[in-house]
Amino acid sequence: LRGEMIDKVIEKLEKLDCGLYLIDEKESDIVILNKIDEVLKHFFEDALLSSSFESVLENLFRHIKEKINHVELMEVYGKTDISKDKAAVFLVNEKGVKKRTVEGEYLPPPCSFFVELNDGKKEIGGICLRSKDLTETERKFLDVLFKKIDTPLSISLSRELAYEFLEEANKELMEQVIKDPLTGLYNRRYLFEYLKVKIKEFERFSYPLSLVMIDIDKFKDINDTYGHLVGDCVLKELALILRRNTRLTDCVARYGGEEFTIVMPFADLKDACAKAESIRKSVEKHKFCKDLKLDVTISAGVAVYSKGLSPEEFVKIADENLYKAKNTGRNKVVCK
Ligand code: GH3
Ligand code: MG
Ligand code: MG
Repeated sequence: LRGEMIDKVIEKLEKLDCGLYLIDEKESDIVILNKIDEVLKHFFEDALLSSSFESVLENLFRHIKEKINHVELMEVYGKTDISKDKAAVFLVNEKGVKKRTVEGEYLPPPCSFFVELNDGKKEIGGICLRSKDLTETERKFLDVLFKKIDTPLSISLSRELAYEFLEEANKELMEQVIKDPLTGLYNRRYLFEYLKVKIKEFERFSYPLSLVMIDIDKFKDINDTYGHLVGDCVLKELALILRRNTRLTDCVARYGGEEFTIVMPFADLKDACAKAESIRKSVEKHKFCKDLKLDVTISAGVAVYSKGLSPEEFVKIADENLYKAKNTGRNKVVCK
């Protein structure tokens, strides 16, 4: 390597903090470094945006496979102090992720490539790749890649294990803290925590972020006519409609009595309004509470996030639009 090329390689290596051992006389290392840059970019985006550890693994596997096609399987396993003789094992291949719990001491299968995962103090698990024989270049690629991601991956894994091995009772307690018992939707406390996280991601990636506030029309009349139990039945069925019509990555929360909030990452004003309108129509068509076949309608206000808004200000914009919907006849969606 000479001249400009050496400078380029050194610059990349410094950025990657991986030492000069990687350079060889051919130019293959530059290719490796470029590949790693790409995978790292995707990995960190996925890690920040994914709601689950499993989808981070699924995406990581996909990115590795794009570069090394003959990788067949990735196994990630972890153990924890909370349950000494159990390990959680994630098997990842093209079909997705399978998760299982293994009792007793866990030994990984023979691997073509292995990395230990460590939480800063001690080993907590490992990653094992199975494939045909790896070439020297492929091995270098994996070496450098995993040096870069073993820390974030270890942190995610230990968080996942902490939850996985939580006592059932504690899991229940955790659910109680973040969920509304009547509808099973998230509660207002969780909604604001979720919004804080999504606003941070917005600042970093500036993908669109929208919010819909929904309120049942004349709900007091339903309670007054049919009683509170029927009122509760309407709330539960509406919660189901909201969940069925939203993405897994959306947050559907019960904001209060008969008010609901949906936060939609990746949806701009147009997408969110279309979604709110389609939910409004589904509610209008639905016959609530079995034999009673009640007609129920909702009003909704939509807001799209713009830089600098606090979670409360963001909610307030949607709420003002909801207020307009109520004042102009109900059973409608107001976006602006
Ligand atoms: P509007 O169209 O203006 O929204 O009219 P509304 O009657 O829906 O609004 P209002 O705020 O006057 O009434 C809301 C009612 O929701 C009053 C309250 O008793 C009822 N409510 C709140 N929480 C619950 C609940 O958990 N179960 C039942 N059954 N009713 C509830
Ligand atoms: Mg209300
Ligand atoms: Mg209402």
